[in-house]
Amino acid sequence: MTSQNLIDMEDQYGAHNYLPLDVVLTRGEGIWVYDIDGKKYLDFLSAYSSVNQGHCHPRIAKKMIEQAQKLTITSRAFRNDQLGLFCKEVCDLTNMEMLLPMNTGAEAVETAIKMARKWGYTVKGVEKDRAEIITCAGNFHGRTTTIIGFSTEQLYKQYFGPFTPGFKSIPFGNPKALKNAIIKNTVAFLVEPIQAEGGVLIPPDGYLKECETICRENNVLLILDEIQTGLGRCGKLFACQHENVQPDAFILGKALSGGFYPVSAVVSTREIMGVFKPGEHGSTFAGNPLACSVAREALKVLVEEGLVENSEKMGNYFMDKLKTIKSKHIKEVRGKGLLIGVELVPEAGGARRFAEALKEEGLLCKETHENVIRFAPPLVITKEDIDWAFERIKKVLESL
Ligand code: PLP
Repeated sequence: MTSQNLIDMEDQYGAHNYLPLDVVLTRGEGIWVYDIDGKKYLDFLSAYSSVNQGHCHPRIAKKMIEQAQKLTITSRAFRNDQLGLFCKEVCDLTNMEMLLPMNTGAEAVETAIKMARKWGYTVKGVEKDRAEIITCAGNFHGRTTTIIGFSTEQLYKQYFGPFTPGFKSIPFGNPKALKNAIIKNTVAFLVEPIQAEGGVLIPPDGYLKECETICRENNVLLILDEIQTGLGRCGKLFACQHENVQPDAFILGKALSGGFYPVSAVVSTREIMGVFKPGEHGSTFAGNPLACSVAREALKVLVEEGLVENSEKMGNYFMDKLKTIKSKHIKEVRGKGLLIGVELVPEAGGARRFAEALKEEGLLCKETHENVIRFAPPLVITKEDIDWAFERIKKVLESL
């Protein structure tokens, strides 16, 4: 079958809830992916930061095959020999005490919401069914009906209401707004350290630290959604470590499994996570031995292969180079580690046409929102790979 046959089939039988670039991929290795005609591309999206460890990392693949031939799922009706180790290892990495496993990012966000509400009612003493969670304008936390209810993006929510009450929106990057929004029923502030889907928006220096102080002073949980910014993407193991912030809970996903399998988690303290009692929450696949084994190896790869350090080094190198490009289309280059956004001026005609042109040059990236090109390669990228990519990016941005 040709690429076109496969594209046509997908468009005929698959729902149109995405607008993918028309490249049909069949193989991946490290930073590279290959289409069905054998053409090679540098993957600058990393499946929205799911393959920080690189495509088909051999150590994770080996572990996955071994575990798949041993035991894949027991459900939580029984115990398995991987879950406890997974929980402990993630708690050690995050300086937390308890973990609740889930599958997708959105499920982990839902879990954190339930956790914060129950903590509010049973520990903080909030009046029944009156708990409030503060979120930020421009957020992206997933696609469930509760989560899109507190999105400020019309496209994500119109036609999908009615929505869950109990959320209040404030501007991102403004600690004063947080302080003013807190009431006695506020149980949590849910925020991304950098709004990646929102257009790689970086808040002012010191923002998270101030939010941490405000939350502590008001007995409000600081819940960081590090599903995209965490696990080395922003040049630290967690983006909040740029400001020495320790949240009350981390929400993790994506690269937690190196892109092999949907694995997500909420990690928190015993006081907070301890509120869950048997029967109150769960998921058939969550915490299964295959997921736990794959995630354990993915985390070991991240740490043992120095990918966090490489992200910081290569991120700085790449961003400095991008800033030298002289193009009438560029408004700003910003980022942390290997999460980099190039914002184009409105007259540039949108980021999509640049993503299309870069595809022709052998680079795969995606527009986020109208005017931002996101560059987020696997963290195994080398200086030589960046130099190769840079020449092509420069050419497209200067000549289109
Ligand atoms: N939170 C953040 C910050 C994300 O970037 C994403 C996905 O892009 C999600 C949550 C949702 O994760 P999932 O698509 O696995 O449900």
